[in-house]
Amino acid sequence: MTVRVTVWNENVHELNEPEVAERYPDGIHGAIAESLDADGFEVRTATLQEPEHGLTEAVLAETDVLVWWSHCANDEVADDVAERVVDRVNDGMGFVPLHSGKNSKPFKRLMGTTCRIKYRHGGETERLWVADPGHPIADGLDDHFEIPSTEMYGEPFDIPEPDRTVFISWFEGGEVFRSGVCYRRGRGRIFAFRPGHEEYPIFYQDEVQQVIENAVEWAAPNEGASATWGEVDPVESGDE
Ligand code: ZN
Repeated sequence: MTVRVTVWNENVHELNEPEVAERYPDGIHGAIAESLDADGFEVRTATLQEPEHGLTEAVLAETDVLVWWSHCANDEVADDVAERVVDRVNDGMGFVPLHSGKNSKPFKRLMGTTCRIKYRHGGETERLWVADPGHPIADGLDDHFEIPSTEMYGEPFDIPEPDRTVFISWFEGGEVFRSGVCYRRGRGRIFAFRPGHEEYPIFYQDEVQQVIENAVEWAAPNEGASATWGEVDPVESGDE
């Protein structure tokens, strides 16, 4: 079955900064959506500015995997929309927060930690090492790849211990960072991927597109087993 992806973007830098708009004429969401569309996924986009940020009950019900880019407007996401995303993840929707999506309300609620980091602007090189070469999210990559210029994120990264750490980044200034981490919450799969600062054309880079494609494939829900919650009668009668 074709995986249905919604690419969500706060879309604020694109509206306020001509340089970002020039780099991403259809928005960061547009660039990501175009590459996923070419991979054969069924893709739609949604942004902060739309009613309910474009993440209505109906849209989320038809979303298998939600890719999320946010940066400066994390606090502007309505609590009830964030809660709705969390509920859908627990219910099986895949969730792929990119870059400062680690500071988004849904991700922080799903983690239960502050998700704080250290950071530095200035265009340093990032070298991403594959720490889990057999993982499907690393499929098709060499043992490392580089992003020529980016914003630095450094450890400590205040997250729960990941189920798997697929990528670890090194930066020119010396810091390191767990830049691709996997979790399960309820029935849902989560992959947080660090790259994607808006000042550089990172979402046009082949390896980055490959990782996002792999992550969408990996995070897509499967049927699984049915589950019953709440008070129940015993399965065995216990009186024989
Ligand atoms: Zn950034």
